[in-house]
This record gives sequence, C-alpha cells and structure tokens, in this order.
Amino acid sequence: MTNASEGRQESAGGLDRRRLLAAAATGAAALTLAPVSFARAQAATAPPKGATGPGEVTRTVTGHLETGAADFVYLPVEVPKGVQKIAVEYSYDRPSVPAGTPGNSCDIGVFDQHGTKLGGKGFRGWSGGFRTSFEISASEATPGYLPGPVQAGTWNIVLGPYQVAPQGMNYQVKITLTFGAAGAAFVPTYPPRRAKGRGRTWYRGDGHLHTVHSDGKRLPSEVAAGARAAGLDYMISTDHNTSSSHAVWGEYAGDDLLIITGEEITTRNGHWLAWGLPAGEWIDWRYRSRDGDFHRFAQQVHRAGGLVVPAHPYCPYVACQWKFGYDDADAVEVWNGPWTYDDESAVDTWDARLGEAVRTGGRWLPAVGDSDAHSEPQVIGLPHNVVYADDLTTGAITSGLRAGRTWIAESASVGLAFTAGGNGRQAGIGETLTTPAAAPVDVRLEVQGVPNGTVRLITDEGQMHQESLPASGTGTVVWRTTSSLAAYVRAEVRHPMADGNPGHGNTMGPVLQWGPMAALTNPVFLKRA
Ligand SMILES: [Zn+2]
Ligand SMILES: [Zn+2]
Repeated sequence: MTNASEGRQESAGGLDRRRLLAAAATGAAALTLAPVSFARAQAATAPPKGATGPGEVTRTVTGHLETGAADFVYLPVEVPKGVQKIAVEYSYDRPSVPAGTPGNSCDIGVFDQHGTKLGGKGFRGWSGGFRTSFEISASEATPGYLPGPVQAGTWNIVLGPYQVAPQGMNYQVKITLTFGAAGAAFVPTYPPRRAKGRGRTWYRGDGHLHTVHSDGKRLPSEVAAGARAAGLDYMISTDHNTSSSHAVWGEYAGDDLLIITGEEITTRNGHWLAWGLPAGEWIDWRYRSRDGDFHRFAQQVHRAGGLVVPAHPYCPYVACQWKFGYDDADAVEVWNGPWTYDDESAVDTWDARLGEAVRTGGRWLPAVGDSDAHSEPQVIGLPHNVVYADDLTTGAITSGLRAGRTWIAESASVGLAFTAGGNGRQAGIGETLTTPAAAPVDVRLEVQGVPNGTVRLITDEGQMHQESLPASGTGTVVWRTTSSLAAYVRAEVRHPMADGNPGHGNTMGPVLQWGPMAALTNPVFLKRA
C-alpha cells in the first residue's frame, strides 16, 4: 500500500525544523517522521548545583495527517545516555464530522533502541487509544508498557491514526526525559502454569479478558476476582497488543484459579487471540491480511505451544471483521459477549466449515466463546468454555480446547452432557463414533439451568430435532439417527424468544427465529464403519 499521508513536523524545541516525509521499509504502510533529538540537552538542563530533583527535558512535536494516513506513523526519538525515565503525552483534534463519517482516532505505543522491525525485540508497550500519556522506567511503567532500563539510542513513538476525519488530524506529542540513576529493576510475577485441579474432568474458563493493561477499566485483581465469582477454574489474559499484564498475574493466580497468559492481536483486518503464550512473549500486530505476515506470527504462537483463535469474526466495528482466513486457526470464537446477530453469522460460517471438513476429511475447527469483558457492567464468564482436560494446567487446558473437547456456556449455572451412542460404543463432544451405516445412533443431551429453553439438534443437514425444556430448566433430550444420515450432530440450547415463544426451527422470516444462545456444543462426529 502506498503512503498517501502528508507529514508535517515541527519541533517546538527549535532543534529541528526540517520537514521530512519518508516511508519505512517494513510491515504495514508506515511513515517515519524527522527525529526528535535530545543531544546536548542533558548538559543544558542538568539540575543546578545543590538541586535535589533530577533534570528533566521536554520536546514537543506537532504535525498534521490527512485522510488516508499510513497505518503507523513513527516518531524517532534520540535518547541520550543517563536517562532514568521517558514520559510521553499526546493529543489530537477532533473536528466534527457528518454522521457515519469516521472522526479522528489515534492509537499510541513505543519501541525502544532495539528498533521497530516487525516481530523484533524493540516492543516496549502499546495503549491503543485508551490513554493520553505513558511513562517507562527501570522500576515501573504505565499499564500496557514494559518496565525496564531507558537505554540510549533511537526509540520510536508509534502513532496509529486508524481513523482520520476529512479535515485531517492535527496532533501533538510531548516527550519528557528525566535524567538520573535508574531505579531498582522491576521483577515480574508470572502466573504458575498449574493450579489444583480435580483430575481428568470438565473445567470452565473465559478465554478473552481485558484489563487496564489495554482498554479495560478493570484492574488485574478485579478480573481475577470476577473469574472466581463467575465460578471459573481458569481464565486467559488477552490484553490488546501487549504482554505487559503477564508480569502481574502471578499475584492473583491460585490453587483455585489457573491464569493462562495470552494476547489479543488487533490488526486492521481482524482480531485474533493467542492463547497459552509463554509468559512475557509478545506477538506483533502491525500487518494487514494482504501483507502476508499473519502466517509467520501464527507460527510463532504454535511453536510456543499456543493456540490461534480468530475473535468475533463478524463484529461490525472498523477493523474488527476477520479477513485472514482459517488455515492457521486452531479454533474460532463464534460467541463473543452477550449473544448478538454477529454471533449468529459466526456460528453459520463455523457450521458450514464443519460440513466442508467432513466432506474433504480435512481438519475441523472447534467453536469457542468468551466474554471479551473490558469493564463494568460487562460480565466475566458470559460466555465461557467448558473444556474436558486431563488436569487444570496450561498444557492440558489448551490441549482440550485444540481437540474441540469443549462446549460454550452462558454462565456457570448452565450445565450439559452430550453424547452419541451406538453399536455398543459412545462418543462425546469433539469425538468420533464409528458405527455401521444403518446402525441406530442415540444422541442424548442432558441440560440444566435453562428455564423453558429450546434444544436444537443440528447435523450436516440442518436442524433435525427441536424440543422445549420445562420451566425448571432441567431436561433430557434423546434423538435417534444413523452415521449414514448424519456426519455430525451438535446441540444448541436457546432461551425463549422475547415474546416467550420457543422459536421456530427450519423457518424463515423478517426477524431472527431464535432466542439468545444459552449453550452451544462442539459436534460429535459420526463415521460409517
Ligand atoms: Zn477484539
Ligand atoms: Zn477483546
């Protein structure tokens, strides 16, 4: 993609009035601005003799970006020796725009002297559009940023102008360096990869959670407390585009709550979850689907033993729809937060792909569901995954999810058991039952916790059976098929529609024929012997 933006930069510090426009060579469309230099600054502003406070130097950069700006605008900052802390503040104007036209919106982050190479070592933090300032020192950093020494060299502040108004965007970046001796080194507290499990059984966990380390308002302590309150056994931390929260979860994990480290990688062509990343590992997000870089980062996650999970693939927000395909995916998040129309679309796509997998003999993709909870009143655990695992460890949970031995529950008050039996054998969720083609197969679903719910049994032919649950919410549904008639069977449990109607299978109409999802299972596959 060519660079359509007009860069203009003026240093208020009077150091650099050159105007410079250059396209960076790597990654998504990028623009590199003229460097901000702090050369000679230290001597000029060192604290006067006898002063007790450290010396501080500030530079302010202003500029203008037009509509069609590069995805990432890099502002190099020449950091001299002897800096103890870097602090950055930024702002931009928000001219009014007609309804439906994107207004100005600009993300921010920073790379250190290791450089900005895609997937490189220089990442030091990202706060998206959530914060207007950040600080980094050896001892601490603003959530979203990585504490550590502020070493000399070229740092890069990254602006991500993901929406630019027709009038353009006027921005200002203020950089303050504090000179002095570095403080004590930050000590990360990573969570253990094991909790006290109940052996081989079903474990509940939310795989998509945000904190103040990205754009959530909840502290890590509040998210961990929320996971416990929701009756979860595990949770996966997935702050956007940063690994900074990994270093604090150790404090909040416990025998009763496994905390798995991850990231939500937020690109311009969709979001994906990296589950089970080694603590501290960061995955780059600076590419679009056409750049051809996604596969490499999916491989990075796989090499580390983690899972690649496209998130909310039909979310209508800008840059949220999934455009990278599913070849590198291990599962797909078909249910994100409270049930909405985009989730229906995700389930339909997922179901169509199940049909394709049984036709070709190819891989099938497990369905997962997570809350994506950021702040109050979003409910942690609405929904979550109930996964069959050997134990409550990071390895066992991710193995169970990868194998599709998992179903999605709206809350911990919803329970179910789903099996198919025939020819003296039985198979459960994510498993395959092999029977003679005409031998009867009994599909059995036991449900609790969905008053007046509607059970739908769905095969590669569509919905084949519908049945209502009683007001108690507890019931058992049994239905008979064969492996020649059905290549897989999966179950949905829906709440009644808003008017109390149980819903109408196999019908069409101007509105959705179903109430919200209460539980959704992965399939049991049926194979002809
Ligand atoms: Zn997202
Ligand atoms: Zn999210």
